[in-house]
Amino acid sequence: MNYKLIIFDADGTLRYCTVEKQPCPNKDGEWALFPDVVQKLSSFNWVPPGDKSGVGYGIASNQGGVGSGYFSENMAMSLLEDTFRAAFGFSPAEDTVKMCPHIPYSGCSCRKPAPGMLEELMKLYKVTPEQVLFVGDRDDDMNAASNAGCDFQWISEFFGRNTAD
Ligand SMILES: [Mg+2]
Ligand SMILES: [Zn+2]
Repeated sequence: MNYKLIIFDADGTLRYCTVEKQPCPNKDGEWALFPDVVQKLSSFNWVPPGDKSGVGYGIASNQGGVGSGYFSENMAMSLLEDTFRAAFGFSPAEDTVKMCPHIPYSGCSCRKPAPGMLEELMKLYKVTPEQVLFVGDRDDDMNAASNAGCDFQWISEFFGRNTAD
């Protein structure tokens, strides 16, 4: 893969919620990485914005639970940054972890399938859509990639993971 930037969805892609019947973690201790994530991500030479010697990285996550009042925006971001650190093995560069805190159908430009978060990351890394891959587990992810003009891979393809869970 010759992508300059690879962006990941979080829930259902990098991590899963360990609380039964809850779609995503609301606080610390409620999530775990999928077991194939660390090994797969360690095969890339990740670089922060401004460094062209490897592959850029980012997370783009819908966190509608913030808008619905289940948890705070700070908590949602802290959980995403913790997920990033566990998955990649280092701390994310500033602005590389994106989330939409808005409720569905609020008309915001960031909630996937809108392309807002992917576009912000492309701008940050100064790359064109053809240089970008987005990896996710939902139709909203696939459509966000399409709306941003990026390539898309399902988790089954990127991680070789069975999607039955
Ligand atoms: Mg997901
Ligand atoms: Zn939004």
